[in-house]
Amino acid sequence: MNAAGKRLLRLEGESVGRPVGELLPDPELASLLRPSLEGERELALRRGENELRVRSLPLPELDGGRGRLLIVEDVSGLRRSERQRAELIANVSHELRTPATAIAGYAETLLEDAGRLDPEVARMVEVIHRNARRLTELFDDLLYLSRIDGQDGPLPLSPVAVAAVVGECLDKASAAVAEKELTVQTFGLEGVRVLAHREALGHIVGNLVENAVKYSHRGGVVTVGARRRDGGVRVEVIDVGIGISPEHHERIFERFYRVDKGRARAAGGTGLGLAIVARLCEKMGARLSLRSQLGSGSVFRVWLAEAAPAPD
Ligand code: ADP
Repeated sequence: MNAAGKRLLRLEGESVGRPVGELLPDPELASLLRPSLEGERELALRRGENELRVRSLPLPELDGGRGRLLIVEDVSGLRRSERQRAELIANVSHELRTPATAIAGYAETLLEDAGRLDPEVARMVEVIHRNARRLTELFDDLLYLSRIDGQDGPLPLSPVAVAAVVGECLDKASAAVAEKELTVQTFGLEGVRVLAHREALGHIVGNLVENAVKYSHRGGVVTVGARRRDGGVRVEVIDVGIGISPEHHERIFERFYRVDKGRARAAGGTGLGLAIVARLCEKMGARLSLRSQLGSGSVFRVWLAEAAPAPD
């Protein structure tokens, strides 16, 4: 171990010739040098004020293929600037949300009496209203994302009834569903409980349902359901709408990534919905997957652990 490694990990003395377990008293850290490990591993550690990232890489040319290399990096500065960035976004969104809400509110009040307005003026007020609403939604999503980013560690999980969460999400989407003359179907929800964060699961399913509705053709079908698979539960949101071609599947969960900017803008939405979904799944330790082909609709799946049935 070189001097920088010893300084960052706060280790004393000579490293050569000492057993790993003695040199690295932290068991989690020592486990990164286990010869049976495969592939790359990463560990976040704290040493006093410093935040460290420790990476363990296989070194096949050492010790008959059982060698490993530990790389220790001080990421305190990086983490600090990430936190500052999240704070800045949160503050700016918060400050801008207030005037945007006022503009949307007054525009809405004017529109209540649209009959008294000159038709040309009414049209302009309608545009002001739509765009101000869009801004408040964007600031809400940015604030929400920076709140999730600012939270350390995973979200606490407890048993959640899937049917109740899905019911709420479908209620919220009902106006848009009626407007597009969609049919909504559900399956497998009754009595199924998962280990999740209630509010986060509501956001996830809500966003996926909103997208399924938004990217469906008029008169289409949106399906929400749950299947027991591999000892867990898979919550699925399915549409038969425009679909997403495979080259976008990876990037679609990035912030502000949109397949068709013009179309997405016309359909409304902030471009942050799936980024929020992905971040919340990560924070719940839930796997998220997408199956979709251009022109034949999409299936978004969230994989959760099953909770014991509710007592009678
Ligand atoms: P947006 O607010 O634009 O809907 P999202 O983050 O929710 O932002 O989605 C990102 C992009 O992914 C969308 O702009 C759209 O191109 C695509 N997308 C998301 N859900 C679907 C879906 N169910 N069907 C087709 N495309 C989708």
